[in-house]
Amino acid sequence: MAGSSDLNASRRLFVKILGQTTVLIPIAGLSACGKPPTAASTGASPPPPPAPPGAAPGTGMDAQAGEVANTAQPPASGNDLPHIGLDDPAARALGYSFDAATVDNAKYPEHLKGQSCRKCAQFKGGPNDAWGPCMVFAGKQVNAHGWCTAFVAKPA
Ligand code: SF4
Repeated sequence: MAGSSDLNASRRLFVKILGQTTVLIPIAGLSACGKPPTAASTGASPPPPPAPPGAAPGTGMDAQAGEVANTAQPPASGNDLPHIGLDDPAARALGYSFDAATVDNAKYPEHLKGQSCRKCAQFKGGPNDAWGPCMVFAGKQVNAHGWCTAFVAKPA
């Protein structure tokens, strides 16, 4: 009967271990369910760190530090440049006029009827712009109906 006693002791030990295990496994599972998923548990990449205060959107750089190199901005169109004035020395030197129809042809015989900034190769404004940048007067806009002695006809 000694073999039967050993068998009973082994059986009791097995039942004891089984009972502890069936209690511990659900507890371990519950403790894991309460936590949010992590990058390690999901296999996903972790999110980027938050942008610092004052950072320009999409650049990751500090706008207040003057380090912004936002390539998402369109190139400058020149529409924000100041309009040239008739008192501008370069404008006076080249006989610039806001309105080609008022050009003194006796003083500027090279001016031909129909010429205007809009039809000049130096004019960089759009086809419907009232004002636009001019290659001759850098940093300024000229009137699309204007004219000066540096007029060069746009290629047909
Ligand atoms: Fe106008 Fe051409 Fe003279 Fe510029 S260079 S002011 S576009 S006529």
